[in-house]
Amino acid sequence: MTSKNNEPGRPDVVLIGAGIMSATLGVMLKELEPDITIEIYERLDVAAAESSDAWNNAGTGHAAFCELNYTPELENGSVNISKAIKVAESFEISRQFWASLVEKGFLDKPSSFIRSIPHMSFVWGDENVSFLKKRYAALTENPLFKGMEYSEDFNQIAEWVPLVMEGRDAAQKVAATKMDIGTDVNFGALTRCMFNKLKQMDGVSLHFYHEVRNLHKDSKGFWNLGMKDLSTGDTKSVRTKFVFIGAGGGSLPLLLKSGIPESKGYGGFPVSGQWLKCTNPEIIERHEAKVYGKASVGSPPMSVPHLDTRMINGKKALLFGPYAGFTTKFLKEGSFFDLIKSIKLSNIRPMLAAGLDNIPLTKYLIEQVRQSPEERLEALKEYYPNAKMEDWELEIAGQRVQVIKKDAKHGGILEFGTEVVNASDGSIAALLGASPGASTTVSIMINLLERCFKDKMKSPEWQAKLKELIPTFGKHLSTDAQLCEETRQWTGEVLGLTTPETLQA
Ligand SMILES: Cc1cc2nc3c(=O)[nH]c(=O)nc-3n(C[C@H](O)[C@H](O)[C@H](O)COP(=O)(O)OP(=O)(O)OC[C@H]3O[C@@H](n4cnc5c(N)ncnc54)[C@H](O)[C@@H]3O)c2cc1C
Repeated sequence: MTSKNNEPGRPDVVLIGAGIMSATLGVMLKELEPDITIEIYERLDVAAAESSDAWNNAGTGHAAFCELNYTPELENGSVNISKAIKVAESFEISRQFWASLVEKGFLDKPSSFIRSIPHMSFVWGDENVSFLKKRYAALTENPLFKGMEYSEDFNQIAEWVPLVMEGRDAAQKVAATKMDIGTDVNFGALTRCMFNKLKQMDGVSLHFYHEVRNLHKDSKGFWNLGMKDLSTGDTKSVRTKFVFIGAGGGSLPLLLKSGIPESKGYGGFPVSGQWLKCTNPEIIERHEAKVYGKASVGSPPMSVPHLDTRMINGKKALLFGPYAGFTTKFLKEGSFFDLIKSIKLSNIRPMLAAGLDNIPLTKYLIEQVRQSPEERLEALKEYYPNAKMEDWELEIAGQRVQVIKKDAKHGGILEFGTEVVNASDGSIAALLGASPGASTTVSIMINLLERCFKDKMKSPEWQAKLKELIPTFGKHLSTDAQLCEETRQWTGEVLGLTTPETLQA
């Protein structure tokens, strides 16, 4: 795979897009194969300015501690925790990767990108309280959720999150869970930190203002990428053996252009988001948690409301949302023609089928867009009853493109997760979708390496390196309580987070 050939325009690997996914893959490849040459092309003038930017996402280190949509209630009344376990395991993998990079000196000052913050779930009403109690019982049987607390006591919850309880009817039946080892992650800072180091390495170059517009595979098996330098208007062509399309919302159009058979039938459904951002420092100071609720009936899973402490550039902030919305753009800095231009003969059937099956979702999104400020305030008051309009301003969040794919039964389905799509020969891969997203980026990229670098992944060298970067690589923390505790202790110490030992002290 590796060449010592540093000739510009002929790298071993091209990464399209400078978000968290490309950054993670770039660092991994460089660790696994130090001689590899990598060129990164980004259409904007800075890394991580789309979904990975701090204000464009919620910064939740998704570990399934508080996100109720990862633990659905089944028809028989039991709570399915399998997705929660998978997400929690994945987040531990990310924590280990970041901790290893800190220990190596590749990432400095972990407090610039990760902080401890309790993760809480909060619900009201008999049905929801009974669900949360069952969820708590099911999760706490697993080592990954050790230390989770549960309460139906008004005063106890008020002690945890005063803003949520002040002004609330004391007769309302409420319940909450709390995990003190939750985190807030500034994925934008983390991404930029990784690129700053990456671009200084031999054989790596990062090119801003470069928009990849076309790609095709030649008869010799190389991918040829056509791109435009948006600062000069010049066009440029780059040839490589491996392409990662990590272009966020821009991935789908490029995947379709690649023409690989595996791309056929994929479509995208854009969902935009907005936050209410608190402007009153006294209120911001009084909240110290990420409090996730239950999504209202008919709403998509990513619009689960949360009242959320953030740490951005060393400054504490408070946001509530997201309010979902509908737009035809695939990127925040994209074009209103993105959706229409993504409709091809190969995906029109799945797109139409998914569209017809999801008319209530579209209606919901359009209603969300048309919400008045007063309606938004009402939604906030469910989590912060004393909220006043003058303390909050509206902020535009990042753009998500949900995956639409072929489905034998329905013709097409809309999915809310992330999906790696790759050519069978492993020469190109794209990442579609957005959830649980940045938190699980390391597991996503390991999965990509297993698909696209099959032989290398089996080699003793790569296996050893992966175990060095992720000490529990190949093991499961969900079935090994001691390993889970030791791993959290180590990553917590290195990343400056709450550890099992600090909790016991
Ligand atoms: C509202 C919202 C809330 C979220 N909350 C969370 C959360 O709390 N926790 C979490 O873990 N995840 C969260 N996510 C998901 C997370 O933000 C994404 O999964 C992650 O940032 C995706 O990273 P990426 O590198 O794939 O894409 P991006 O960060 O979007 O990067 C893609 C890059 O590609 C560039 N690009 C696009 N097209 C081209 C082209 N043709 N040529 C060159 N460059 C191109 C773009 O300019 C961009 O810089 C949230 C997302 C949203 C939208």
